Amino acid sequence: MNKLPQPPPGGPQRHYGFWMNEALGREEPEAQRQEGAETADVLIVGGGYVGLWTAIRIAELDPALRVTVIEADLCGSGASGRNGGFAFGWWPKIETLIDRVGSEEALVLADAADQAVFELGEFCGREGIDADFTPGGWIWTATSGAQRGAWRGAMKTARGLGSDPFKELSPDELRDRTGSPVHLGGVFEAKAATVQPAILARGLRQAAVRRGVRVCEKSPVLSMDGKSGTVKTASGTVRASSIVLATNAWLAGIPELRRAIVPLSSDVVVTGKMSGELAASGWTGREAISDSRLMVHYYRTTSDGRVVLGKGGGGLGTFGRVPDEFEQNSDRIRQCTQSLRHLVPATRGVAIEDGWGGAVDRSTDGLPFFGALKSSVPVYYGAGFSGNGVVPSLLAGRILASMALGRRDEWSHCGLARGIPGKFPPEPFRSAGGWLVRDAVRRKESKEDSGRKVGFWNAKIASLAPSGFFKPSDSDES
Ligand SMILES: Cc1cc2nc3c(=O)[nH]c(=O)nc-3n(C[C@H](O)[C@H](O)[C@H](O)COP(=O)(O)OP(=O)(O)OC[C@H]3O[C@@H](n4cnc5c(N)ncnc54)[C@H](O)[C@@H]3O)c2cc1C
Repeated sequence: MNKLPQPPPGGPQRHYGFWMNEALGREEPEAQRQEGAETADVLIVGGGYVGLWTAIRIAELDPALRVTVIEADLCGSGASGRNGGFAFGWWPKIETLIDRVGSEEALVLADAADQAVFELGEFCGREGIDADFTPGGWIWTATSGAQRGAWRGAMKTARGLGSDPFKELSPDELRDRTGSPVHLGGVFEAKAATVQPAILARGLRQAAVRRGVRVCEKSPVLSMDGKSGTVKTASGTVRASSIVLATNAWLAGIPELRRAIVPLSSDVVVTGKMSGELAASGWTGREAISDSRLMVHYYRTTSDGRVVLGKGGGGLGTFGRVPDEFEQNSDRIRQCTQSLRHLVPATRGVAIEDGWGGAVDRSTDGLPFFGALKSSVPVYYGAGFSGNGVVPSLLAGRILASMALGRRDEWSHCGLARGIPGKFPPEPFRSAGGWLVRDAVRRKESKEDSGRKVGFWNAKIASLAPSGFFKPSDSDES
């Protein structure tokens, strides 16, 4: 019997954030709870993108199957309704992807992720999901001398595979397109988009329901018995022939996965609606923008003229726990606001409308992985999205659906579906080391931002951090 960790209880006291409030404001409330003793063919725990895409895929592959999704609070109340809404694939991580699955398959997966950006837009159109899918592309920038050329390794490796996803932008072009003088260099990836993430999550929920999936919300799973394939919720049980765990960073509470992922926070602020400031600055193309820090800044605009900025890696969950304060931490929201004013000068003087955070499931190499727990009834998991899950979750749905249905295909046998790729040190060393390395990264990046020299030991300790959305060892100064 495995106890499953719980996200914070839902209700008015929970801070969902601007995106989710906007999405819920467009709906009639209709959460259906799990009650009594039920059975299902496939049971999916977790109603975020990963759980919902998996449910949709299974329902499409075999409409006769009884598929149940059980979500602790509301679908989208986790990272899926809180994220930055950057929809991009795996080219920035191509070198790590090659390390994991080899060149040939890395190319197949990177192409599949590119295609998934397009499919996401198509799916929203077809299903009437008004998630503001905007294919404005992504600008990957350097905002300090140390970040310059961070993309070179990925660019060269992609070219070696016969692909050319990044187009270098001159400093003038960068300034014109981003409306900000802080970008010293950068590249543009055209096959990227932004979405309103919570409307997407709620739309996936509806798409699953339309396909006959039973979606239970406000039904936290308290424990799971892998021998009988039964989960216990607050007010009942569900027994299934196979189980898929899609609970993101909360998976770190499962003993077999405890050393495979570390829960980190990512924190976000959104401005009020702006009138004319963005147009005057020149940032009118709806591009998503990131810098090249490990504690990455990511920023984008919305269709109603707001700027959303997030910052990764501020909080660390120790001993496999996801602290409730990940969802709103005033210090980290203040830091996001400061970064926003610096990186997007057009927002200076514009009020901040909301600030919130969410949990990220960091794997050792920054890529997701899929596998099965040791149990009598098959229990599959998908974890380690590491802050890039909007598009990869669509592919995750294919992988987990194929695994749950016992299909032998390119998804269930792909190189990402070979279980845990690497382990963090055991506790308490992991948390102690994690705090030490994270502080060193914070000090190093803050010095680099202001052009100060980074000390030898600071750089040495910071270099122990697992890579972010690119491999830092391959960056170079230009
Ligand atoms: C602030 C932030 C910004 C991000 N920005 C981006 C971005 O711009 N682009 C990008 O690609 N990715 C981004 N990500 C990552 C992306 O949001 C995630 O990778 C993706 O949403 C993960 O989907 P999921 O279904 O695994 O997780 P979640 O959406 O967290 O879903 C897991 C669900 O499981 C439920 N659950 C947990 N325990 C239980 C239980 N015991 N019983 C029942 N249910 C349970 C939770 O309530 C939750 O709803 C960001 C993440 C955060 C937090």
